[in-house]
Amino acid sequence: MLKSGRYILGKEVHAFENEFGSFLGSDPVVGVANGTDALVLALRGLGLRSGSGVVTVSHTATATVAAIELAGGVPVFTDIDPHWMVMDPQRLTDTIREYRKKKNIPLQAVVVVHLYGQPADMMGIRKVCKKEGLLLVEDCAQSAGGLWSSRMTGTWGDAAAFSFYPTKNLGALGDGGAVLASNRGVTNRIRILREYGWIRRNESQLAGMNSRLDELQAAILRVKLKALSKENQKRRELANLYRKEIRNKEIILPEERVEGRHVYHLFVARSLHRNRLQRYLKKNGIIANIHYPFPIHRQPGYRGRFWIPKAGLPETEKAAREVLSLPLFPEIAHSDLKYISTKLNIFK
Ligand SMILES: *Cc1c(COP(=O)(O)O)cnc(C)c1O
Repeated sequence: MLKSGRYILGKEVHAFENEFGSFLGSDPVVGVANGTDALVLALRGLGLRSGSGVVTVSHTATATVAAIELAGGVPVFTDIDPHWMVMDPQRLTDTIREYRKKKNIPLQAVVVVHLYGQPADMMGIRKVCKKEGLLLVEDCAQSAGGLWSSRMTGTWGDAAAFSFYPTKNLGALGDGGAVLASNRGVTNRIRILREYGWIRRNESQLAGMNSRLDELQAAILRVKLKALSKENQKRRELANLYRKEIRNKEIILPEERVEGRHVYHLFVARSLHRNRLQRYLKKNGIIANIHYPFPIHRQPGYRGRFWIPKAGLPETEKAAREVLSLPLFPEIAHSDLKYISTKLNIFK
């Protein structure tokens, strides 16, 4: 790769775009600089108009909402399903109806997030988007390799965004991201947008940006992609082991949906005594993090720039108080996992 002398959008990026596309069972993806840009480019590529409403969840990584704003959209939050902690078709419908009754600003898109690697109900959400005439974008930053009804997350919507931030299931050794679009015209527009809007060198057809996947990261991703299925399988086995070992009624463990394949980017438990549980684990040498302690609509940086239903987002707020991510990564030793489970079982 170094010998080729081509360090930007060269053969490694091209090959990775094809290989990750085949992995998803789809056309080639477009490699970009990071997952946030991937969402921005997905929305811009689909033609999001400045000032349009974009429905998403507030229980997500800040990047989801940052990207909506960067693409010119106005975030509209819908509450999550209390059990699965992701977008729910019925609440989505209710939010869309309530918003349309009260606001004149047009709604244009939905960004669904497969949070923690848990796929949202894509059959249901896609139906709602079709019925309501909304574009559908999937935020797959945490769900590479996840399935809904035997189809990869990312292949259900009009476009999807992936992040290759080092901690993600498919991680680079630095930043990286990819966009998948279901329509070739949209894919082409995203390719143009990612490099100054160039249709050819020095000729901009669109007002673009610079968001390229690095050639070196692409080379690394090509190697790591080969191990993704096996590593996801490992994550699923470790999740099953936790479910087998943990028997404390105070701690609620994530479950699998019949139609979905969860890929456990994070193994997120819930407890009414979350903060005390986190301190207790820390005292026993176990670091359990919170994803995420503050919903986006509670963040000072986003105050006053979004819309929420009149009833608020009670399930989102409750989740933010209760979630705790237990250590889970493909390399974790079974003995460590059992030690963590033992400690959890004696927590009162
Ligand atoms: C990581 C992440 C992103 C953003 O990806 P970056 O590569 O960090 O820009 C977007 N959405 C979700 C849900 C994420 O977890």
